[in-house]
Amino acid sequence: MTNYIDLHTHSTASDGIYSPTELLERAKAVGLRVLALTDHDSTGGLEEAAGAARALDIDFIPGIEINTDVSGGEVHVLGYFLEYQRPAFQSVLQVLRDARVRRGQRMVELLNQEGLHISWERVREIAQGAVGRPHVAKALLEAGYVSSIGEAFDKYIGTGGPAYVPRYKLTPEDAVRLIASANGLPVMAHPIELPGLDELRDWLPGLCEAGMVGLETYYGPYTADQERALRALADEYNLIPTGGTDFHGPGIHPTPLGGRPVPHEAVERLKAAAAERRGKTPPAFELPPPVQEK
Ligand code: AMP
Ligand code: ZN
Ligand code: FE
Ligand code: FE
Repeated sequence: MTNYIDLHTHSTASDGIYSPTELLERAKAVGLRVLALTDHDSTGGLEEAAGAARALDIDFIPGIEINTDVSGGEVHVLGYFLEYQRPAFQSVLQVLRDARVRRGQRMVELLNQEGLHISWERVREIAQGAVGRPHVAKALLEAGYVSSIGEAFDKYIGTGGPAYVPRYKLTPEDAVRLIASANGLPVMAHPIELPGLDELRDWLPGLCEAGMVGLETYYGPYTADQERALRALADEYNLIPTGGTDFHGPGIHPTPLGGRPVPHEAVERLKAAAAERRGKTPPAFELPPPVQEK
């Protein structure tokens, strides 16, 4: 096991605190040699990150993380080595981001109706990339309506809360196919939080059939027992066991950047799988129709 690989990080292109360049500088400072940037629904940070990585001699893997909805919760799907400049792929991401903007505006309207006066302009400023609930939460915190980000979710914008508006609904299979449509490698993120170890067995066959190739096994806070259980499942379904910290900046997730040992095997197997796809015509992907907004 090595401590120089981190395959799950976020930057200001989604809800991370550091810019892609700052993230790479920090990665260098903590001794990382391989880093993947996996922003939510956005590839906006990848160009800058790749440039910074070249200058710092870090092996950079372009990535993404797509949030999807299942009954009773969420499943996140990571994608690695995407040919993200493909126009068809970018236009799908654009639809998802536009839907996030409308949804963010709607949440602000609902909060205003509740007597909480935050402005859409401020939310937009806080979110430099794809707009998400963490940015709305930050605006509520800043305006003094809540005393923590968690309280904003608990009282207002958590699932089912008075100002909660659902995102564009994608199923986990949709996300897997979307990533595959850019010749990327779909990997299920933090399976123990979402969907949970018991549910996982129900999900894996369908996701593998849709084209999933990996399972995040060496995730920030996972215990040795959890890691063993996931590793066994990865082996059973012939999935690449990946790992990382989900670093967003200090104080957001418990694990510091690079603070999770990940075996080099993860990188080797991802690279081998990516090399097989590179440049081939990927399967097409079509977005399902959007759900009715609240
Ligand atoms: P969105 O994709 O805009 O619905 O936002 C989802 C993000 O909000 C997740 O990726 C988490 O980072 C964050 N989040 C969800 N629930 C909570 C919570 N209870 N407390 C703090 N952050 C949360
Ligand atoms: Zn995030
Ligand atoms: Fe996630
Ligand atoms: Fe993440």
